[in-house]
Amino acid sequence: MTERLYYTEKTECEAKVLSLRNAERGYEVLLDRTVIFPEGGGQLSDTGFIGEARVLHASEDGDDIWHLTDKPVDEGRTVRVAVDTQERFDHSQQHTGEHILSGLAKKMYGALNVGFHMAKDYVTIDLDKALTQEELEELEREANRAVQKCIPVTSRIVSEEELSSIPLRKRAEGLKGEIRIIEIADVDSCTCCGTHCLSSAQVGVVKITAFAKYKGGVRLWFACGMRAVEDYQKKQRITDALAKRFSVKTEDIPDSIERREQELNEVRRELKSRTAKVVEYTAKEALMKAESIGGIKLIIYQSEEFNQSELKLLSDNLISAEKCIAMLFGTKGENIAYCIACSDGIKHSMRDICDAVNALLNGKGGGRPNFCQGSAPKKSGLDESLEQLENYMKSMLR
Ligand SMILES: [Zn+2]
Repeated sequence: MTERLYYTEKTECEAKVLSLRNAERGYEVLLDRTVIFPEGGGQLSDTGFIGEARVLHASEDGDDIWHLTDKPVDEGRTVRVAVDTQERFDHSQQHTGEHILSGLAKKMYGALNVGFHMAKDYVTIDLDKALTQEELEELEREANRAVQKCIPVTSRIVSEEELSSIPLRKRAEGLKGEIRIIEIADVDSCTCCGTHCLSSAQVGVVKITAFAKYKGGVRLWFACGMRAVEDYQKKQRITDALAKRFSVKTEDIPDSIERREQELNEVRRELKSRTAKVVEYTAKEALMKAESIGGIKLIIYQSEEFNQSELKLLSDNLISAEKCIAMLFGTKGENIAYCIACSDGIKHSMRDICDAVNALLNGKGGGRPNFCQGSAPKKSGLDESLEQLENYMKSMLR
């Protein structure tokens, strides 16, 4: 059995090593007493030191607490155990902030905390009621008012019998024997095994950083203390950079982005209409130059200007204007893009021609009997390949 000193104000203690065993990631050490909090109740494990060995994690096994260390510690030895106080304070701040937010969410909106998760870089709580942004902002303000009131955070141990008569926000199911209750007057009271600040003031600041719909309720991401300050600094850097980029005040950034989006949309519309004109002109010119074989115009066209969708537009223009087979190759992108299409009433299958193109250019693609598209890796000698294709097509059409 390990005596638990982490609920006291002690951050260091002397302890006896009761047992040592090998673990996958190091060694596991059982002590007769410890100041290291083992992972549980949604709170992360403390880290620290046992003598020279670094404690990476601690976990409960019944009444025992096992410490995962990077070095072995001799059985029977008396050792100094120390917790990483800065990390512990951070965990206690986040955990106490969770109590404040959860207690107030219930009091203000009847929303119950149904999930809590603390990670190294974020903390979430899940409420069973979908709250609006305005409601969450008021909850945040109320939480910070509670912080500023400097309310003591107290713990007491009660029996199972006593527990039923105490009004609590939340009671964990199936608790036996002595049960620990955490109270923050007028804000929260619930059963809890975690570590907490001594007073609400130590939480420093409570900031909801994001929220999202979750299982009919809402999930909140929040940060307390220095995590909130660091989050503010990070966001300040982002907004400062954006304000500088757009040469506007911070509050004018959204309008500035909207204006740019409108400009971009106008440019896109303009580009689309000009591309349509260029394609139309290109189609006319290609049809004029094209050789007619057996009543079908054959167009083999290569361009550095057109991408796949523009080639498709060009082929639509060509096949609707005259009876033709259009074989279009674009070298604008990383690969060669191609489109092969024919007008209605042509009995040759574009799939067969597509197979020939793929074989010649080592390409991939396919489609319907009257339209195929695909791509091929770029290579030198495309002109010669297209000449070969032209000869193949001519002999097929004659
Ligand atoms: Zn707690």
